[in-house]
Amino acid sequence: MSLTIYNTVTRKKEPFEPITPGKVGIYLCGPTVYKPSHVGHAVGPIIFDAIKRYLVYKGYEVTWVVNITDVDDKLIIEAAKQGVTTMQLAERVTGDYLKAMKALHVDGIDLMPKASEHIADIIDNNKRLEEKDIAYAADGDVYFDVTKDDDYGKLSNRNLEDQEGQRALQSGEKRNPGDFALWKAAKVDEPDEVKFDSPWGKGRPGWHIECSAMAMRYLGDTFDIHGGGLDLIFPHHENEVAQSESCTDKPFAKYWMHHGLTRFNTKKVAKSDSSPEMQAALVKMTLHNLLDAYPGELIRYFILSTQYRRPIEYSDAEIAGRRKGLDTFYRLFERVERITGQSAYDKASEIGDPIPENEPRASARADAQSWFTAIALSDSCGEYLQAFIRAMNDDFNTAGAIAALFDFAGTVNSFIEKEKLETTGSDASKADALLATARLISVSRLIGIFLEPQSKKSAGDDGVADQAMQVLIKIRQHLRKKKDFETSDMIRDLLIEQKITLEDRPDGTIWRAE
Ligand SMILES: [Zn+2]
Repeated sequence: MSLTIYNTVTRKKEPFEPITPGKVGIYLCGPTVYKPSHVGHAVGPIIFDAIKRYLVYKGYEVTWVVNITDVDDKLIIEAAKQGVTTMQLAERVTGDYLKAMKALHVDGIDLMPKASEHIADIIDNNKRLEEKDIAYAADGDVYFDVTKDDDYGKLSNRNLEDQEGQRALQSGEKRNPGDFALWKAAKVDEPDEVKFDSPWGKGRPGWHIECSAMAMRYLGDTFDIHGGGLDLIFPHHENEVAQSESCTDKPFAKYWMHHGLTRFNTKKVAKSDSSPEMQAALVKMTLHNLLDAYPGELIRYFILSTQYRRPIEYSDAEIAGRRKGLDTFYRLFERVERITGQSAYDKASEIGDPIPENEPRASARADAQSWFTAIALSDSCGEYLQAFIRAMNDDFNTAGAIAALFDFAGTVNSFIEKEKLETTGSDASKADALLATARLISVSRLIGIFLEPQSKKSAGDDGVADQAMQVLIKIRQHLRKKKDFETSDMIRDLLIEQKITLEDRPDGTIWRAE
């Protein structure tokens, strides 16, 4: 089964063939660190973290670069508003971003270069473009002349005439309306603004050239995958391609992957709305606030539940829906632990990565044996692993991969029922259920979920809350024994109103908070 990737340049799925066999370089446009990140900023990192894990599993050596844009007009304006330097603001926002990434289990980023530390590379690129007469200086600014690039527009599928027609406003200094800035001269009347020395006088780089310079610095002139949100295709990525390829005369990125954008799924307010409701919704959506409200694993799972090219519908109701899905897995893991006295998470760590069929690495691995241990569920485990791999090979369809995991969980649950493992089942069957669940977890880990036991927040054993719940459960049992179903149901219904559910099982009642 070979991997295919939807390439924005060709607008179709293509077989993935890395430039250097066995190695993959990925560049993802990172945050402009001027205000707190919102859920949309987590989409790219989460998806590419899952992609990297999967590529590593397939045996590739992956280098993943995410830049930090710490030189930008928006940063300068915001820092002035807050009365801090751009560096202070950038450092604070970057710190919050990294904290959020950690909570979301985005562990795979290898390099996070900052634009401010790559000014020499940027100047060098600009000089090369100027020497080739593709860039020109005008009053301390430097512009890229789009008419000098024959295939300008190939990524966003636009031609120059379209663009010129759309741009009524034209700066007096530009030769063509579509020309974009590679360097911006410092304004004389803003003494505090961030500026760097350059052959064109003091100033700062344009946004697009920052990414080109950092991508080429760490991944080479030509590299495998460039990613970002759909909103970056034009002008950001189009300009990155134009200036990089014009500079090196070599192809820039081989595959362009663009992920869908977050959509506010609220009927009352439109995205452009600046009403208090919308502003409140936006504040609520900062990653910081989201991570206060929900476990990082739930947010990661929520985002991976949608195929990455589709828009992500965000609302509390959507999150709650996903939480139910995630709880199905958590319940299975708890159930197996209750039955066997062993943690399926620990068992998963013990058996390691799943070994696909016909995988030459398999024989070389010491931990491979557990994957071939025959158990009652062996055929199912193999089938679900294959379904997962099929989905991931199809343009990293994480939604399809999660669907396979769901079926996997369903089969293990059915096995537990059939073998009556919660009451009488055999030890051999219990061991099979544990190993199958561990395999399910280790497959899930290929996209970075179920890396560790879920936070106890929703697991139903919250210290004092649990003690109080045990008292209620005992009262309810007593009432049921006395056949006072009216009162016992009242307790259950009142708890449901508080989003707490009781689950009656053969070995007792457990509770769960949403
Ligand atoms: Zn970029």
